[in-house]
Amino acid sequence: STEFDHNAVRAQFPLLTLGNTQQDGDSDGDNSGQGEQQVCYLDTAATSQKPQCVIDAMTAYYQRSNANVHRAAHQLSAAATRDYEAVREQVASFINAASSREIIFTQGTTSAINMLSYGLTEQFAKGDVILVDGAAHHANIVPWQELAKRTGAIVKPIPLTNNGLICQQGYQTLLVQKPKLVALAHVTNALGTINPVADMLAQAQQAGAMTFVDGAQAVAHLTVDVSALNCDFYAFSGHKMYGPTGIGVLYGKFEQLDKLTPMLTGGEMIKTVSFSGTTFGELPNRLEAGTPAIAEVIGLGAAIEFLNSLDKTHVSNHERGLMSYLQQQLSLLEDINLYGLDDSSEDGSCGTQSVQPQSTNVGALAFNIKGEHHQDVGILLDQQNIAVRCGHHCAMPLMEHLALAGCCRVSIGVYSNKADIDRFINGLKEVIDILV
Ligand code: PMP
Repeated sequence: STEFDHNAVRAQFPLLTLGNTQQDGDSDGDNSGQGEQQVCYLDTAATSQKPQCVIDAMTAYYQRSNANVHRAAHQLSAAATRDYEAVREQVASFINAASSREIIFTQGTTSAINMLSYGLTEQFAKGDVILVDGAAHHANIVPWQELAKRTGAIVKPIPLTNNGLICQQGYQTLLVQKPKLVALAHVTNALGTINPVADMLAQAQQAGAMTFVDGAQAVAHLTVDVSALNCDFYAFSGHKMYGPTGIGVLYGKFEQLDKLTPMLTGGEMIKTVSFSGTTFGELPNRLEAGTPAIAEVIGLGAAIEFLNSLDKTHVSNHERGLMSYLQQQLSLLEDINLYGLDDSSEDGSCGTQSVQPQSTNVGALAFNIKGEHHQDVGILLDQQNIAVRCGHHCAMPLMEHLALAGCCRVSIGVYSNKADIDRFINGLKEVIDILV
């Protein structure tokens, strides 16, 4: 196989090569200030940078083919509709869905989970159990709590090991209660841990549960195959996979999706409207009321094309190589606590070791400097133009479990390189010198 030309990949991201305008003392944005360094962007898990092809695709749509979809008889609208629907096909094959009718465009993962949890309301009753990943993002917790409020269902967290991985034995114990729904993260955003979802979903199905997987942190790093996973629903955001903000996907098995009550009603989603009664249209339109985010859908299509243009094995090896280099370099420093690493050898609160799966991290790694506040670390790194995320990472239950007020998270993307990690480690050494 040919060498993976990483520089050529990175060169496609203008913000990483042309400069950013946020640097101190360079408010005119020409990035010509003395001694200023390009941003060291290690916050991809929050949002990824965008390749030129995504920016170009959206600009081209507005410049040359802007029209509303699904409406007019004119050619421009027909072309916009064709391009929009072509992306639905692209998404379906990207995650290996059985049909493009199983792909619903949403504003992102949050909006997808809200659409799903609202849409399930009529199927839930008092006492129904919803099992939720104890390390989940708030977007995969709060909508289930709201569903529980509406229906009398009960949300139960799936317990975690001492290091914040899912406790498989605790999960199995909860499955005995025959939950109505199991909601998991594919990859956790705070720690970057990969859940053994294939196994866990199979067990959930055996227990008779519906299944949902939050793939927001997975799609950019792992090959996602919803047919192989056999989950009922899966959601992700465009902006974390090199696409634009404001666009995401709710995937559902056709017969499950078809049962959802539409959260939004109005134009585009109906079959007939009359003051004596209205009928809804068919999937996918039934769940896409109003004018959709057309340019963003086009941008998402370009992001998928970008990802498909790269050799998956090369990308995966590159990213895993960087992550293990990062972990190794962090381990060499004193005064650092790392979180979310495999604790299968640990005699934790989770019971026998035989059921504890191996887990690896992808994309993100969380840490603290012992005894120091994560926000101070973040600010001091930012002063060196090194961008990491410090906080509770929208996973307050996980932070509580780990007995942390918060932590710092380094996260990488396809454009990240060894120089980014070196610059971060050197920057962190300076932070330690200042703080410790
Ligand atoms: N779930 C996970 C695991 C996430 O990482 C995020 C984004 N931080 C979300 C859900 C919410 O995604 P969005 O903000 O794009 O709706």
